[in-house]
Amino acid sequence: MCYAIPGKVVDIKDNVVTVDYFGERRKAKNDFYELSAGDYIYAQGGFVVQRVSRREAEEVLKIWEELFFKLQQTDLRLAQKPKDLRQIANSVRQKELGNSCCVHGILEFSNHCRNDCLYCGLRKSNSFLARYRMDVDEIVDTADFAVRELKFKALVLQSGEDLWYDEDKLIEMVERIRKKSPALIILSIGERPPELYEKLYKAGARGVLLRFETGNPALYRKMRPGHDPKARIDLIKRLHKAGYLIMTGFLIGLPGQTQEDLLKDIRLTASLGTEMFSFGPFIPHPQTPLAGFSSPLIEETLDTIARARIMNPESRILVTTSLETLDKENGLKQGLLAGGNSLMINVTPAGYRRLYDIYPDRAGKDADIKERIGSTVKLLYSIGRAPTDIGLGIQP
Ligand code: SAH
Ligand code: SF4
Repeated sequence: MCYAIPGKVVDIKDNVVTVDYFGERRKAKNDFYELSAGDYIYAQGGFVVQRVSRREAEEVLKIWEELFFKLQQTDLRLAQKPKDLRQIANSVRQKELGNSCCVHGILEFSNHCRNDCLYCGLRKSNSFLARYRMDVDEIVDTADFAVRELKFKALVLQSGEDLWYDEDKLIEMVERIRKKSPALIILSIGERPPELYEKLYKAGARGVLLRFETGNPALYRKMRPGHDPKARIDLIKRLHKAGYLIMTGFLIGLPGQTQEDLLKDIRLTASLGTEMFSFGPFIPHPQTPLAGFSSPLIEETLDTIARARIMNPESRILVTTSLETLDKENGLKQGLLAGGNSLMINVTPAGYRRLYDIYPDRAGKDADIKERIGSTVKLLYSIGRAPTDIGLGIQP
């Protein structure tokens, strides 16, 4: 199975290539390869992440050609005659971005954390949680399996804020993954010094997933004791300047959060130069100080996706696992039909995945990865979405 359509390089100017996908043209930055016109590549988030042989490209294109246009028809049909907020958002998504849906892999390599965020099950004060760390070899091998065997083109490497992974380990990890299994590498390792992030960019990472959690400073200070909201936002801005693709956003339904806060958070996400919006419902964890609170209704997250889409027609909006956890049968589908156009599939080995207990009973916690990919692709096809990278990155 393939999550991206190979594109044919048709023009090259400095490190920007123009790529053709069934007649549609996109631009992508090429930091990693010597390319000539006529070569085939995979791009993610506006970066060339893999070069493919003509033979492989032609095989994949043959499968896609017919399917691609068939899926577009289904998507168009479902987006017609919108009646309510979410349907309007879905039709905006269809018009502006077409039917592509990014499917990224996420690898959770450590559940140790030095912080004590009130909402999170990985907080350091949760002494009930068995902790794990994957060593660099294991991380590199798992990433390789995800890229080569499962064909992911973008991988999020996520952990608690775990200083055991020092500069040397993190650089080695990124360099080895980039060399062995080329994909877009997205770091989600919390607040580390900007200089370290800059070195990791040089090592080959190109994305950062770092939510600002809430744009309400008083609420932020309450939820993340000892942390400064401005420092986090300044870090996100600095990483954007350094060239990273930014994925950021907020939690929905934190105790004390208002509707106005959520609208401001959508605006703040957009103002940070965000490549992908990442926001999802807060789900209370029994071993945290917020155990007695409830999750927001699923409708609140769906409406936030819809508002974010209407306010930012061309953005990528992630449908999160936390939304899916609120309704395991239909959460993903509803998120995609409310304006979402991006997903992640967990590629963490199952034994560790169960221990990455940010919130309880996560969707896909015990699933077999290949079955999960199969069911996700089936869902995408049923609503006319192509699991591809088309429509992303720098527009011509
Ligand atoms: N330690 C890193 C990355 C891992 S946490 C960081 O904090 O940035 C990833 C995300 O999980 C956080 O950004 C937070 O928004 C989300 N999260 C934590 N606890 C949660 C909960 N109880 N319900 C829903 N999402 C939660
Ligand atoms: Fe640690 Fe991130 Fe959880 Fe906060 S949200 S406790 S930083 S893993």
